[in-house]
Amino acid sequence: MSIYDSIEEAAKELYIRALKDIPADVRAALDRGLRAEQQSGNTTAEQVLFTIIENIKVADEQDTLVCQDTGLPVFRVRIGTALNVDGAEIESRLRIGCERATREYPLRSNTVHPLTRKPTHTNTGQGIPAVKLGFARGTDEIEIVMAPKGSGSENMSFLKMLNPADGRKGIKRFVVECVFESGARPCPPVILGVGLGGTSDVAMQLAKEASCFREIGSSNPDPDAAQLEAELLDLVNRTGLGPQGLGGATTALAVHVEWAHTHISHNPVAVNIQCWRGERARAVISADGGIRYGAS
Ligand code: SF4
Repeated sequence: MSIYDSIEEAAKELYIRALKDIPADVRAALDRGLRAEQQSGNTTAEQVLFTIIENIKVADEQDTLVCQDTGLPVFRVRIGTALNVDGAEIESRLRIGCERATREYPLRSNTVHPLTRKPTHTNTGQGIPAVKLGFARGTDEIEIVMAPKGSGSENMSFLKMLNPADGRKGIKRFVVECVFESGARPCPPVILGVGLGGTSDVAMQLAKEASCFREIGSSNPDPDAAQLEAELLDLVNRTGLGPQGLGGATTALAVHVEWAHTHISHNPVAVNIQCWRGERARAVISADGGIRYGAS
């Protein structure tokens, strides 16, 4: 198999795996949420989390999808700089992989034209799959992480160009406002991604990285950002919104912050929400075309 054949095969397989096999860190976070609600005596929140966990078990046993929404395909690809590869061919094979997953599994297709609403029936189209390409120095491998993004959570995306004088307090206020605005629609408990700084588009990309591609429980290496993550998680869980918006202490499984430097007169804050499903799947392709699937 050529490296491009392997990329196509991995793209197909990752799309299906991400929808069926919830990552271990998400399962552990849901279990922690269930124990917390049991200890607090909130039987409604406990029942909702119990049902979510049962849903995952049934999907495991029946080898089927966890939720009906197969989302829009989103890939993060890191190409080793020791590899000499054709980036356009990589993008093309990712697209073909999504189309094959949709046809061969088969998956529900969600892609439509934004004006005519005409469906493509392939889960691909202009600009879709969304692909974020990056590079890793000193390796001859390609890492692909796939995170299908369902509509309930992706519809809850927000951007605000705050005033620099709004500072940390303004950032926190905006994030909590977004949580209230979202309510039950993104299927809480959520994974809340916050992107700070950069330009407006960079902030949105950082928020997506934070919500979809970070391991739950991981902290930002920057101590200020890590502290903000802890403060926001506490604030969001004190809203009382709870699992599926029915009340409780587990509104978010995690808050992840990613940041970039920004203009002296900018203060962009973006919020992207991932639902309890927290779906993502990872593969590493070696130079000889070998594929290793594994934890992301
Ligand atoms: S928000 Fe997530 S769990 Fe809820 S319906 Fe959409 S994909 Fe499914």
